[in-house]
Amino acid sequence: MKTVGVLALQGDFEAHRKALEEAAGAGEGVRAVEVRSAAQLETCDGLIIPGGESTTMMKLLGEENLLEPIRSFGATKPIYGTCAGAILLARDVSHPAQASLGLMDIDVERNAYGRQVDSHIARLAYAGGEMEAVFIRAPIIRRVGAEARVLAMHRGDPVWVEQGRHTVTTFHPELAADRSVHRRFLGKL
Ligand code: GLN
Repeated sequence: MKTVGVLALQGDFEAHRKALEEAAGAGEGVRAVEVRSAAQLETCDGLIIPGGESTTMMKLLGEENLLEPIRSFGATKPIYGTCAGAILLARDVSHPAQASLGLMDIDVERNAYGRQVDSHIARLAYAGGEMEAVFIRAPIIRRVGAEARVLAMHRGDPVWVEQGRHTVTTFHPELAADRSVHRRFLGKL
């Protein structure tokens, strides 16, 4: 039985919990738990940082003394960041600039789609087929390091990227039906 934590300081825990269960299917056994403390993080084999507001999340992580525990967790265990979570995992954040965990060699620009299209649903092509991708005030990944691998693009920009054990998506797969992103993440546990 593997345990996946979903950071639950802010943002949508419940949709990721359901998505994890659906991705695991019967048999394999994946338990999803809410993470609000370093002690809870220690019980996990992997962590999801959900969407939400990255500035608020960084502030709360600092207040709860979770920044260093998550950084050292990420040195050996997989982390998947969705949207605001992707911003937290990035090395450099702009528009506006803010601190981050820097666990992946990518640079992101926050709220980069502009007012007209700041939230939209798109069809996304990836190696396994096509999926629906929900973008909500999403960042754009402006630079991807040599070690990182782009798994899907949207309007010419990478939107699903992994680097070793870590993954980011700038869209919200937990809000759509396709479980490929969660399934691939579970494969890294
Ligand atoms: N716009 C948010 C931020 O910059 C991210 C939005 C999301 O996670 N859906 O933190």
